[in-house]
Amino acid sequence: MKKYRGVYLKNENELAKMRIANGMNSQILDALGEAVKPGISTMFLEEIVQEMCRTFKVKPAFQGYCGFPYALCCSVNETVVHGFPSKDKILKEGDIVSCDMGVCYEGFYADSARTFLVGEVSQEAKDLCRVTEECLHYGIAAARIGNTLYDISAAVQRHAEKHGYKVIRNFVGHGIGANLHEKPEVPNFVPMGGNDIPLQEGMVLAIEPMIAVGTYEVTILPDKWTANTKDGSLAAHFEHSVAIRSDGPEILSLSSNFSGGCR
Ligand code: MG
Ligand code: MG
Repeated sequence: MKKYRGVYLKNENELAKMRIANGMNSQILDALGEAVKPGISTMFLEEIVQEMCRTFKVKPAFQGYCGFPYALCCSVNETVVHGFPSKDKILKEGDIVSCDMGVCYEGFYADSARTFLVGEVSQEAKDLCRVTEECLHYGIAAARIGNTLYDISAAVQRHAEKHGYKVIRNFVGHGIGANLHEKPEVPNFVPMGGNDIPLQEGMVLAIEPMIAVGTYEVTILPDKWTANTKDGSLAAHFEHSVAIRSDGPEILSLSSNFSGGCR
């Protein structure tokens, strides 16, 4: 596999597999979006993921990854990422729930996330989710040849901070391909003294703004995974897997229910 500054560049064959993987991943996320309503448990969402993975004959990418016990990261309200699905966690009117998942198809990975609204939610929650999705769109629009990696980071950060929100620092986007996480890291902020690189055709990046209302600081719970905002404020998370193409970004995880906002 060809590399540029340590980053794998995918050929057409590999991109075709990633398109299929992400297509299935997006269908599963569509199903989660339809299932989300007040009164269901977050474990019910995990069960949907498990069942659809069996139907599609794909492996859930997260289960067992560094010991993560589930197929779905299900993060409610102040949980930023890596929430555990639970029978005891019942969604209620006004919650927001971030669903992040991946699958592996013929050795290639998909990764995408969306934050869903549970029934009628507050204006604060609506605004946060809208702006976080817009941050993703701005990031994707910057994912083109002629730009650098941190043009993506800057586009996300600028839009979030314009609205007074905070960009989570502890977690970042990433390259994706034959590995769930590969180089480069894709921060949602421009890091001091970071290692910026020009974007190249064939790079595939999981761009995933994680944005909070109050603080970018997180607390990791004793389960060693669940990451909550330190001040308990709401957080949202949207993610697409995006290929850098000669004619612009190609969103591999696009679905009719979840647009990319550009191209
Ligand atoms: Mg993800
Ligand atoms: Mg990711």
